[in-house]
Amino acid sequence: MIEETIFSKIIRQEIPTPLLYQDDLVTAFRDITPKVSSHILIVPNKHIPTINDVTESDELTMGRMITVAKKLAKEEGIDEDGYRLIINCNDDGGQEVYHIHMHLLGGQRLGRMLSL
Ligand code: AMP
Repeated sequence: MIEETIFSKIIRQEIPTPLLYQDDLVTAFRDITPKVSSHILIVPNKHIPTINDVTESDELTMGRMITVAKKLAKEEGIDEDGYRLIINCNDDGGQEVYHIHMHLLGGQRLGRMLSL
C-alpha cells in the first residue's frame, strides 16, 4: 500500500483548501508557496505517486490535466501572455510530493527553462 500524501486529503476536502476546479478525474488548487504570481497545481484524484507509475488506463486523466490547465490559464488571464506546465518526477526532477501534480505557472515572464 503506497502511502497517501496531503494532496489526497485536499482532494477529499479533509483539509479545507479552496478548490479552483474539481471533477471526477482531477482537482486544482493554488500552490501554498507560490513561486510566481499565478501558481496552480492540477492533481489527479487517483493517487498516482510519479509519472513512472502512469499506465494506459490513466491516459484520460493525464489528458484532462492539460485541458483543465488550459481552462484555468484562461480564467487567470494568463493564456495570451503565456505560461508553463511542469510535472516533476523523483529526486533529480525535484519532486517533493509523491502524488502526481502539474504546476501551472504564469503571470510574469518566466525566463530560462531551467536553472541548474
Ligand atoms: P513538487 O516539488 O513538484 O513535488 O511540488 C510540490 C508543490 O506542492 C510545492 O510547490 C509546494 O509548495 C506545494 N504544496 C505542498 N503542500 C501544499 C498544500 N498543502 N497546499 C498547496 N500546495 C502545497
